[in-house]
Amino acid sequence: MQGLYPYGHGISAVDVLYERERLNAVHLLVERGRAAIIDSGTAHGVPRVLAALESLRVAPSDVDYVVLTHVHLDHAGGAGQLMARCPNAVLTVHPRGARHMIDPRRLLAATVRIYGEETTRRVYGEVLPVAAGRVLETPEGARISLAGRALQFFDAPGHARHQVVLRDALTGHFFAGDTFGLSYRELDRDGRQFSFPTTSPSQFDPPALKRSIRRMLALEPQAIYVTHFGQVRDPLRLGADLCRLIDAHVAIAERCRGAGAQRNALLRKGIAELLREESRRQEWPLSDDELMRVFAIDVDLNAQGLEAWLDSGAGG
Ligand SMILES: [Zn+2]
Repeated sequence: MQGLYPYGHGISAVDVLYERERLNAVHLLVERGRAAIIDSGTAHGVPRVLAALESLRVAPSDVDYVVLTHVHLDHAGGAGQLMARCPNAVLTVHPRGARHMIDPRRLLAATVRIYGEETTRRVYGEVLPVAAGRVLETPEGARISLAGRALQFFDAPGHARHQVVLRDALTGHFFAGDTFGLSYRELDRDGRQFSFPTTSPSQFDPPALKRSIRRMLALEPQAIYVTHFGQVRDPLRLGADLCRLIDAHVAIAERCRGAGAQRNALLRKGIAELLREESRRQEWPLSDDELMRVFAIDVDLNAQGLEAWLDSGAGG
């Protein structure tokens, strides 16, 4: 199947074609015919996830888990539809996210505040609730077993307070959602990968995000899977860059503190400049125009997230 990326050990990513190619990955973990779907993508991506499972010879009834790293709608919007199609699946979610999956109305309202009504509908599709009896909360230290293969959850605040990362005991690899940044494949140069932080609203917490990154690195994973997009290797190098770039975001926000009506525009300008600097430093194989196209959504979201962080009274 096109857009299905196998990484070995039963792990693969399916491109759910959100906004563009290779922006949003749904990861699949298959062990002895049983499957876990890690993040759901949006409701629009659900047919692609089911097609990917079929190509891996996994029936919807063989899906044991739909695992959410956090409840931002590009990761969790399709969960209700997937749960409706996979009758034996349990939905796992951070304790802070569970009620939003059982009753998604508040989550949708928060998204409408950021994107507006029409865009929210177009982008995320129909977000279905999940029956409370099928939801398993995964706080720090929670474990599940996929056909005997252990997965352990770590509380991972910093991008969002409802974020977990999970470690696959067999490989030592982590599924990080948005905690390990945005690693678009367009940035790859001679097989070298890069990652850039996502500070999207409204719970960006720079010290917590760096702690969450370092906690994963301390366990020396050989690979980390990020939603945007897929498997990254060499986590130590990428993690060091991520921590440096988180600090750079904080510095941009501090410079824009008190900028009044200009603040959002100045933040976007600062983030775009940081991207161009990093592109030169790392020699990303992209023109400035291509770079801004690849990160168009993220420049806006990171700026909004820094505004929310400034308004929360943090830093300073
Ligand atoms: Zn997110």
